[in-house]
Amino acid sequence: LEKNLEKLDACIARFRADGVLNHIGGESRPAASGATFDNHSPVDESFICKVAKSGAEDVDAAAKAAKAAFPAWRDFDAVSRKKILHAIADGIIERADEIAIAECWDTGQAHRFMSKAALRGAENFRFFADRAPSARDGQSLPSPTLMNVTTRVPIGPVGVITPWNTPFMLSTWKIAPALAAGCTVVHKPAEFSPVTARILMEIAEEAGLPAGVWNLVNGFGEDAGKALTEHPDIRAIAFVGESKTGSMIMKQGADTLKRVHFELGGKNPVIVFDDADLDRALDAAIFMIYSLNGERCTSSSRLLVQETVAEEFLAKLVERVNRIRVGHPLDPETEIGPLIHKTHFDKVTSYFDVARAEGATIAAGGEAVDGKGWFVRPTLFTGARPDMRIAQEEIFGPVLTAITFGEEDEALEIANGVQYGLTGYVWTNDLTRALRFTDKLEAGMIWVNSENVRHLPTPFGGVKASGIGRDGGDWSFEFYMEQKHIGFAT
Ligand code: NAD
Repeated sequence: LEKNLEKLDACIARFRADGVLNHIGGESRPAASGATFDNHSPVDESFICKVAKSGAEDVDAAAKAAKAAFPAWRDFDAVSRKKILHAIADGIIERADEIAIAECWDTGQAHRFMSKAALRGAENFRFFADRAPSARDGQSLPSPTLMNVTTRVPIGPVGVITPWNTPFMLSTWKIAPALAAGCTVVHKPAEFSPVTARILMEIAEEAGLPAGVWNLVNGFGEDAGKALTEHPDIRAIAFVGESKTGSMIMKQGADTLKRVHFELGGKNPVIVFDDADLDRALDAAIFMIYSLNGERCTSSSRLLVQETVAEEFLAKLVERVNRIRVGHPLDPETEIGPLIHKTHFDKVTSYFDVARAEGATIAAGGEAVDGKGWFVRPTLFTGARPDMRIAQEEIFGPVLTAITFGEEDEALEIANGVQYGLTGYVWTNDLTRALRFTDKLEAGMIWVNSENVRHLPTPFGGVKASGIGRDGGDWSFEFYMEQKHIGFAT
């Protein structure tokens, strides 16, 4: 902890002095109105920096810069594009320590996880860098009278809007494929965690990305975010955030016929059958809700456990949850840091009363930690019914709701009985059951006998209120590019 605290000042001193500026057309600048807002650390509520509070005028300048830079970037030699994206990955690796520390301080995420987030960000750039030269590849589909070919072209300038949970990694996940496809970008990071988005953009320009290809506009969703989704020069919006914000963005983008890609909320089930490897299931269930502060879209926030093993499984779970270390995010021993900000802390802690009022049992946690900062104890609700709010709503904190079930059919009904459908985790050693169950489980991504292990070529995304579209592999290019058909008469 001491070592990381020593580094912290060096990481954030310049932001404290200069604030987080926008970056438009290769130039760093404040919001046109001169407006700023203050950014505080969730660890002790201390001031970190001022941030440009942008409005429609700033978004317009950024969209115009992205539009002006588009033709040259679209036609940029693909091998050179690949080199620049790899250079961005190199820059991320070089500054991984700084990124991890700044991210912990800005978001409250524990260092043990954030030190890997920067590396994963670099991996995202390398993955799409390698695919950049073949992004435009098409097919030949000849008919008796025509030589038909298809090709793919970048859609144009795109808007990327990201949330505050693991903001660095998520920004790379959206921006790397957009650049690899040949799109130019206007990025609006979350207002609560602006620091690492700025570092990332600086790394990109140092790596040789031409001015205007990547523009950064800070500010709030209701003004800067909204203006971006409504801008006529922005052809598509890649959005990660809450389901209700996705719905607003769809309406805001309707007049300009925006293409949208949504990665939204979740209330993901982990289903534990009595024939499973229960020790492994326990480890995975704990990891998937009590890492990253539970502020994770893919977290398994509902535990469905078969009655025959529930008592023993839940007793072990309580014992383990009570041992989770809550503390300073820069302490390498810490497993759970503070929640992102007061509003979110109020939301998460409000569910402790909801659980009591609904008649569930608070088997662990259920309280905030005294003192400064937005810390809560890892919490487990047991005795929950599927229709309770604690079993239906996305709490987005280190809070797990446990429900017991009798047979497979009941488990499936409970698992599918929510508005969301992002991920599902199934624990059973019965292969035919696993096949049957995963076929009917309403989720975009399912893991059997595993926690969430991301493999970049596989599709990432949700169904129902959890999202529209897929990222990963070639799916990212499908979003950022247009298919074009050309038929030559023979
Ligand atoms: P949020 O929806 O409040 O904000 C996300 C972003 O949208 C922010 O940058 C915000 O400024 C912007 N925004 C808000 N209103 C807007 C508007 N009207 N127009 C345009 N932009 C607007 O979400 P959050 O609280 O920052 O993030 C947490 C949520 O994100 C959770 O629901 C979580 O599940 C979800 N999430 C999903 C995934 C996924 O892959 N499915 C990944 C991470 C987070």
